[in-house]
Amino acid sequence: MEFKVDPNAADVKKSLSEGKKYRIIYDRAACIGAAACVAVFDKRWEMASDNKANLKGGVEISKDTSERSSDVPPKPSFGDIWQLDIDDIEYEDLKTSGDVCPVNVIHLFKLETGEKII
Ligand code: SF4
Repeated sequence: MEFKVDPNAADVKKSLSEGKKYRIIYDRAACIGAAACVAVFDKRWEMASDNKANLKGGVEISKDTSERSSDVPPKPSFGDIWQLDIDDIEYEDLKTSGDVCPVNVIHLFKLETGEKII
């Protein structure tokens, strides 16, 4: 899935005014549960009951609302896409989390320009 950050969006401007500099967008639906992110930065990542990682403090910005027949068990109620704006202090650890993810589902953007870092 392709993700973008619009530096002119109101929520981006608000985060910039609060001293945040980067945005993590985490495609939880595509996580394979390798737990590499948890190993490098357990302050922000933890494994959940469905064997995918949760981004601690992140906001769920997309939920799976697709309909299923009653014989298909419902998914756990975790959002599919999570987002978190961060400052310089956590940048290196969260970038490393994204670098070690084997399926590249942790994306990192610079808020000021919208540039995609990973
Ligand atoms: S490293 Fe990637 S695939 Fe593994 S748990 Fe973290 S987000 Fe999921």
